[in-house]
Amino acid sequence: MTATMPVACVIGWPVKHSRSPVIHRFWLKELGLAGDYVLQPVEPDDIAGFFRDLPKSRYVGCNVTVPHKEAAFAAVARREAAAEETGALNTIWIEDGRLVGTNTDPLGFLANLDAEAPGWDAKPGPAVVLGAGGAARAIVWALLARGFAPITVVNRTPQRATAFAARFGNRVIPAGFDKLPALVGTATVLVNTTTLGMHGQPPLRIDLSPLADTAVVNDLIYVPMETPLLTAARARGLRAVGGLGMLLHQAVTGFEHWFGQRPRVTPALRAEVLKSIEAG
Ligand code: NAP
Repeated sequence: MTATMPVACVIGWPVKHSRSPVIHRFWLKELGLAGDYVLQPVEPDDIAGFFRDLPKSRYVGCNVTVPHKEAAFAAVARREAAAEETGALNTIWIEDGRLVGTNTDPLGFLANLDAEAPGWDAKPGPAVVLGAGGAARAIVWALLARGFAPITVVNRTPQRATAFAARFGNRVIPAGFDKLPALVGTATVLVNTTTLGMHGQPPLRIDLSPLADTAVVNDLIYVPMETPLLTAARARGLRAVGGLGMLLHQAVTGFEHWFGQRPRVTPALRAEVLKSIEAG
């Protein structure tokens, strides 16, 4: 390790729950690269100063987590399309002394399904996305990019679904959970982006029997790995994909910018991150 080795970080407040150091340190070691990836707590009052000083700091860039995503979106000099069009940004690097940012969640989502359910997008049709929060924006943007339409966004708070859909135009339709039974049978892909099913939250229980046999079910949640939704989908004989792969695949872009090599998502990486999650 030398004073000039590249160091990236994840900023948040708090930030100690982040698994990103486990992922990036695994890749640095696997690829034999000098570098490090650390947790960097930043208090909300200090965030403007952090971004101002970032180009001259010891860091080559950062991941951004709660509550700094909005500040990051505003702070960068240039946003890639995935950030601009989803209105969210989670990865920053430095080009010619200026901050550049993107949202790596859409790519992570697509790469996870490509890997775990090959051919899932061969015949893109109607999709159902549960939830209208930050993650849902990445998912809807990615599904539209792969040709899925219409996409119905089903949310507990109707106003949020309506505002969400308006951002994407007429290929995205807002709905309440009362409409779900009628919608399920139309979906070629169904994605849960709500927190229902997460450790400590109520389970997501929906009747999957009307889904077509070829439909794919994806849950963004990865704690626990096997959610009630995934169990129900498997019991119904459907392809069911969990959220851990998205977490791993979304990290690839940042690593490549900061450390100069494109890493791979492998079973060994998955095992390492799982071990860390299980350790709490
Ligand atoms: P968020 O912005 O807070 O949105 C949460 C969503 O969950 C909202 O649509 C909210 O509905 C809904 N919700 C919460 N409690 C509910 C309940 N009791 N009944 C029905 N709906 C409920 O969160 P987010 O950032 O989008 O993250 C959502 C989930 O995705 C989290 O579990 C997160 O861990 C996961 N995620 C995973 C990855 C990955 O890499 N695998 C990446 C990003 C996010 P209202 O609008 O009605 O409140």
